[in-house]
Amino acid sequence: MLIVKKFGGSSVANKERIFNVARRCVEEYKKGNQVVVVLSAMGDTTDELTAMAADINPNARKRELDMLLSTGEQVSVSLASMACESLGVPAISLNAFQVAMHTTSTYGNARFKKIDSQRIRHELESGKIVFVTGFQGVNKYDDVTTLGRGGSDTTAVALAAALHADACEIYTDVDGVYTADPRVVPNAKKLKEVSYDEMLEMASLGAKVLHNRSVELAKKYDVQLVVLSSLEEAPGTVVKEETKMEQMLVSGVTADKNTARIAIIGVKDEPGIAFKIFSMLAKKGINVDIILQSIGRDNKKDISFTVASTALKETLEVLEENKGRITAERIESDDQVAKVSVVGAGMQTNAGVASDMFEVLYNVGVNIRMISTSDIRITVLIDEADVDKAVKAVHAKFIEED
Ligand code: ADP
Ligand code: ASP
Ligand code: MG
Repeated sequence: MLIVKKFGGSSVANKERIFNVARRCVEEYKKGNQVVVVLSAMGDTTDELTAMAADINPNARKRELDMLLSTGEQVSVSLASMACESLGVPAISLNAFQVAMHTTSTYGNARFKKIDSQRIRHELESGKIVFVTGFQGVNKYDDVTTLGRGGSDTTAVALAAALHADACEIYTDVDGVYTADPRVVPNAKKLKEVSYDEMLEMASLGAKVLHNRSVELAKKYDVQLVVLSSLEEAPGTVVKEETKMEQMLVSGVTADKNTARIAIIGVKDEPGIAFKIFSMLAKKGINVDIILQSIGRDNKKDISFTVASTALKETLEVLEENKGRITAERIESDDQVAKVSVVGAGMQTNAGVASDMFEVLYNVGVNIRMISTSDIRITVLIDEADVDKAVKAVHAKFIEED
């Protein structure tokens, strides 16, 4: 069997953890399997590198940032490979350039286009465990790109798809996907299985246990994922197309504090304004989430929407530069907001989830600023200070009462 394993930052945070990873890979190898291992940077390395860059130049170019951030993963793969060899098993570390993992050119948010499997296959066939840097790729200019925070999961799934792996295992510091972040909601329950669609919503809405694009890719290429603990032996969560179990009404509650709200006040109430605003942002690679447009009055209207807080500065710059073109009177923003969502395939056939959610939030005194829904999710935008209270209350209603 060919198995792709991915270990996150906390799972390789120090020498002892690196040896733990190496031992687990060696065990798998000794069962006669081919083992490809994707690693993240050690512990908080990526945060530390980001802070170093900000200290040197707060306006550093994204190309240079990617060059810097990609080094974290090179440290962990080379050390892990050395650890395996010290345990007596041949291993090799490869970075994205050496594998040839081709991505789009967008620094900081690149997407995989094509992955060459030849080099990895060659190394596997020569009997080595192969360690590959997560989170990064190479673009058409032969520059290093990164995939966005948490992107190593996506590297693992992309490799599993390219190599037609028999299994793709994501090892992390929790033993599976829970109904809510177990660090916030101690009563959260571990899910045995979750569908791609539900997991994709949860990951996109703040359950950072998996990078959302890893789930998107897994669904596209039919890669079944297992999320497991790197430290304990416990059955994890399987992420796959259909779940056998009876559908739960709500399978997860998520929160995303990396959210900011922007309001463009007093634009002309005429065709083409929304198009101008959102195409401008799309060109800059800025993802827009919940969008709300007010009803026109005196030939004017307001458009509000949310973006990731990390994209707020750039979004405001683009809008201010084009204030005249989009006919805006004023642009306001608020970074102290967050999204809370409930996700569940069962909602498709059950009315009343939205009103129950609003009631719960009313009961704990949380004000809703914006609402957005799909057939398997309800998202509300609330004050960041209310997030933990809201998540606990919503979880208690939909999951603990169930
Ligand atoms: P890694 O470094 O292994 O990639 P991450 O920190 O990216 O790990 O993701 C694991 C973390 O995700 C957990 O420590 C947990 O706090 C958080 N998390 C958020 N939502 C969930 C959830 N629904 N289920 C499990 N973990 C979650
Ligand atoms: N090291 C990167 C990050 O911290 C990628 C990852 O961990 O998946 O975001
Ligand atoms: Mg992660």
